[in-house]
Amino acid sequence: MIIVQFVSLMVSAGVLIYALSCWRQSRMAFFAYTALAVLFNVLGYFLEVTASDLNAAIVACKVTYTGAPLTGVMLFFFSLDYTGRKRIAAPARNTIIGIALLFTVSTFLYPDIPLFYSNLEFSTEGLVNHLVVTPGPLYYPCFAFTFIFTIWAFFNLVVGFIREKRYEGSLVFIFSIALPLLAQVYAIVFGLINGWSPVRAALAFGILLLAIFLSRYRQAEWQSIGREQVVQEMQDAFILIDNKGMVLDYNLSAAGYFPALGSKTGKVTLSELWDFPVVNYTHYGTYQTDFDKNGRILNLKVTTAPLDANGKVTGTCVTINDDTVNHLMMQELSRLARRDDLTGLNNRATFFQDATTSFDLAVRQGELTGCAMMMDIDFFKDVNDTYGHAVGDEVLRFMGKLLIKRLRHTDIIGRYGGEELVVWMPATSLEGAKRVAEEIRVAVQEEHFEVGSARFNVTISIGIVDMASVELRDFEDLIKKADLALYEAKNTGRNRVCVYNEKPGGC
Ligand code: GH3
Ligand code: MG
Ligand code: MG
Repeated sequence: MIIVQFVSLMVSAGVLIYALSCWRQSRMAFFAYTALAVLFNVLGYFLEVTASDLNAAIVACKVTYTGAPLTGVMLFFFSLDYTGRKRIAAPARNTIIGIALLFTVSTFLYPDIPLFYSNLEFSTEGLVNHLVVTPGPLYYPCFAFTFIFTIWAFFNLVVGFIREKRYEGSLVFIFSIALPLLAQVYAIVFGLINGWSPVRAALAFGILLLAIFLSRYRQAEWQSIGREQVVQEMQDAFILIDNKGMVLDYNLSAAGYFPALGSKTGKVTLSELWDFPVVNYTHYGTYQTDFDKNGRILNLKVTTAPLDANGKVTGTCVTINDDTVNHLMMQELSRLARRDDLTGLNNRATFFQDATTSFDLAVRQGELTGCAMMMDIDFFKDVNDTYGHAVGDEVLRFMGKLLIKRLRHTDIIGRYGGEELVVWMPATSLEGAKRVAEEIRVAVQEEHFEVGSARFNVTISIGIVDMASVELRDFEDLIKKADLALYEAKNTGRNRVCVYNEKPGGC
């Protein structure tokens, strides 16, 4: 039996070490206090069974009762804390602890004041050395006190777990608490078993069971708490709706998008909050939409993931991701990829892409009215050489603005390369194209550029081709011919408009 008590002592010490290792974790502090009280209780009893005389056994008793009255109380506090029931107010808690300590003190007063014991005698007969107790006036109240709180704790934990349908948990509590309780009842009703009390062994075993369960259970619990916290605090909004669109759950971020959600879960459908048009809640999908969040237009990526239960959609998880930064960046990237930075016109690749599409469409529709125009600044090299590249750039910028201003928005304008600009003018007659080219030529000629006190003008040469005059309905061919017309304009004196003609010199 001494071995049993020694093992119990070791077990209690082990449990206390475990409890201390996690006592800072939420709802575990009182478990550590319970384990400490149990350790005193078990240690005291171990000292009692190994005591060699009355005095040593009385000291052992005092160790036992340093922990014993607090065991039930601490377990009770733990049960309240752990099941998340209303915490007990500090004054009430302190009073209860105070009463437990009074019992402890009363054991310390023996034999001077026989409150807890009337008399103690030491016996070496039976299975182990033990004290033969003649109870004092506080002896039974102390047991009753411990009993009440232990049963209360037992009730809290078992009911709490059954309520949450955690039957495994309630079974563990039934065993771990009922065991020492029953041992205690047995000891009070039938007395010691041949001088040995089974209470402390049962207590050590009970708390071990509890510790094993908690360590396993808490791990699973932490996982779900962790997941819950991640969902609650993640930047993406999360909204859970049932198959009628009713909002069942949502996180903090979702409340940021829809302040009207408030505490309306189960009372409001998502479509009442948001006239988001495309969501098909029963299918997995990703949608992009604009959203006005307190006056700021955001671009949102909305994902719907249906929750499937046995082949039936029971609800949908809607997540909303603020994609504004990406969206703006993509817009800017695409703008940068399409535009020529200096002139603000389409770059060569974009020009060909857009203009070819427009040209092909015109051909398909049998629309054969359309002209292409190539222009090149005359003696531009001289401008750079005389006034510097920055001034040359200024001239190019002016050209870009002029063309955008002067041409129709259906015309497609591009920077062909260097100081050569190109225009595709759909549904434009040759006469119309010539007129506009002439206007542009004159407008350029009349523009004065100023560099310090110097003033200068530039001129441009323009080549035009009418799509009707091109046999192959190929846009690149059309541009080549506009280039030939431009070449002609350069060769025949510059600062002029030339129309492509099969015969050379037909300008
Ligand atoms: P012309 O066309 O009348 O025959 O004479 P040009 O002097 O314009 O001849 P060319 O087409 O050979 O010269 C083009 C010049 O345009 C060369 C280059 O310095 C200048 N150029 C090309 N791209 C840019 C640019 O982005 N900025 C500036 N400042 N100059 C450019
Ligand atoms: Mg030139
Ligand atoms: Mg050139």
